[in-house]
Amino acid sequence: GDKKAAEPEKVLRVGTEPTFAPFEFQKEGSKSYDGFDMDLARAIGKQMGYKVEIVSMGFDALIPALNSGNIDVVAAGMSINEERQKAVTFSEPYYTSGLIVMVNKDNNEVKSVKDLEGKRIACQIGTTGEKNARNVANAKVTAFNTNDEAVMELKNKGVDAIINDSPVVGYYLAQGGNASMKTVGDIMEAEQYGLAVKKGNDKLAGEINKALAELKKNGEYDKIYKTWFGE
Ligand code: GLN
Repeated sequence: GDKKAAEPEKVLRVGTEPTFAPFEFQKEGSKSYDGFDMDLARAIGKQMGYKVEIVSMGFDALIPALNSGNIDVVAAGMSINEERQKAVTFSEPYYTSGLIVMVNKDNNEVKSVKDLEGKRIACQIGTTGEKNARNVANAKVTAFNTNDEAVMELKNKGVDAIINDSPVVGYYLAQGGNASMKTVGDIMEAEQYGLAVKKGNDKLAGEINKALAELKKNGEYDKIYKTWFGE
């Protein structure tokens, strides 16, 4: 008889917003997606027997894309919170994070979140950073589509501060950003990142959790962690 045609490879469409190094970013001139989340998503996909396809979009477009079926999973340093849990189903947490304030190095006025009252704050649209910025009394908040634009605005002194995730700010400073910028105050809010799937897709969430647990057990998670965060 005829040879059976090879089964088409199952594809897992993973949505992300790639201006969030070291979790997801594109090296200049490169089309590939790098970072902790990207490696983790590919490892999880492989474990589940899927080929992973990364789909790039604005952060605020990710949850709508899940719900309309354009993507299967969000891997975007997305913090698990009650509001989002109404709209999506999260995996088990995979990374502990938090928010921090970044200012220009020559700013001696803003020493903590409290000093942001009445100040101009940049953030990324749809993020917990934006939510926290909007809670600062009398602040003028500008929400940008990408983190890169928010950082540029701070550099140009169009704003006084940025509120963003502390590991992302830390990475930026360590990569040379510390020549002109610094963090102030303590971590504002502890958050945990989760992978998100369409609300109620417990089957996929379960497969992801199983793969994540396996990667934690077999050392692959630690290997990916070390690649992006060192020890
Ligand atoms: N962790 C933050 C949030 O979930 C920021 C995520 C991001 O900018 N990619 O809103």
